[in-house]
Amino acid sequence: MPRKTGRQFFANPGPTNMPDSVLRAMDRPTIDFNDPEFTAVFDAGVAGLKRVLRTSGEVFLYTASGHGAWEATLVNLLSPGDAVLVIESGWFSAAWHEMAGKLGLHVQTVAADWRRGADMAAVEAALRADGGHGIKAVLAVHNETATGLALPLPDLRAAMDAAGHPALLLVDTISSLGSLEFRMEDWGIDGVVGGSQKGLMLPTGFSFTAVSPKAMQAHAGAGLARHYFDWSVMLRRPQRSFVGTVPVSLFYGLQESLRLIELEGLDQVIARHHRLAEATRRAVRAWSGNSGPQLYGLDPARLSDSVTTVLMPAGHDADAVRRTALDRFNVSLGGGLGKLQGQVFRIGHLGDLNEPMVLGTLGAVEMSLRLNGVPHGRGGVDAAMDWLAAA
Ligand code: PLP
Repeated sequence: MPRKTGRQFFANPGPTNMPDSVLRAMDRPTIDFNDPEFTAVFDAGVAGLKRVLRTSGEVFLYTASGHGAWEATLVNLLSPGDAVLVIESGWFSAAWHEMAGKLGLHVQTVAADWRRGADMAAVEAALRADGGHGIKAVLAVHNETATGLALPLPDLRAAMDAAGHPALLLVDTISSLGSLEFRMEDWGIDGVVGGSQKGLMLPTGFSFTAVSPKAMQAHAGAGLARHYFDWSVMLRRPQRSFVGTVPVSLFYGLQESLRLIELEGLDQVIARHHRLAEATRRAVRAWSGNSGPQLYGLDPARLSDSVTTVLMPAGHDADAVRRTALDRFNVSLGGGLGKLQGQVFRIGHLGDLNEPMVLGTLGAVEMSLRLNGVPHGRGGVDAAMDWLAAA
């Protein structure tokens, strides 16, 4: 294989780029996770996570990827045969749905067109129809990484309140935390699932659930079998988390990534994600001329600021474009998941990213469209530059 020069432009929607200073912070000797020096780093990391989550409640952490936090959240809050309502958004809502079913929960769905996202009136209607309050939790993916659509969580909360339904609201923020605006307490969210490897700019390796007081009460009566993920077991551990070895190095990385986020300012981090996402969208809109690729999401208000999903014109293979981008230009794009494989590619623009990195990626995509004979409007990169130079 020919040597690839320069740095790879990593435009996958997770894991994401890690800042050099985060890499350096983790490059240190092992330390006992009960050493007071580590305890201080750990405690500061959890306090910082709470600031990013905008919560003062408990946070339980696991040495697991996001799937582990999904499972932990369900088994700690629910009992066999409980009903849950999944808000369909795409591949990841379907995977959480499947997990809930396998864990012995009775899963209902608010079906949604993946290109438009769920209708909040349908959520309210589904909850009103549940007069006996059999539904114990609503499961929603804040940012559907497969489709590039975000769910308006305050509207979801309002729909639950309008229905007067007491179900817990459980939200996956795996590809939104630290990238999109998110306010756990203000938005009345009871369980928040997050992971290390996206907006927090760390390696894959830990995930977590932030828990409201109402959810802690539900935990006391939850009957699903659990041990490794049991919050009650964790509360007796020195870290109030982790049944097992603590991923020590990651917390040195977290200390640094939180420092970077707070140095830039969380609001500025979110504004940067919006600026870079909008540049990407403007490029795709330019390419959509001449019957070219289009934005997958059809509702402009729901387009995600952390990932853009691009729908290819019929008869053209998204994976061929991705291969060209990787082989010729050393740019790594995300592929289509499940039924979208080959039909879409995904441009991740979350985490440690700046304007030239986004422009470089967009340039590689535009060249790859050309090299694969995909019809498209020219000038996507120009459209992105016009926006970035003005924004
Ligand atoms: N939820 C969302 C929104 C995701 O994007 C992902 C992974 O990309 C997951 C859940 C699953 O997380 P993990 O792959 O870390 O298990």
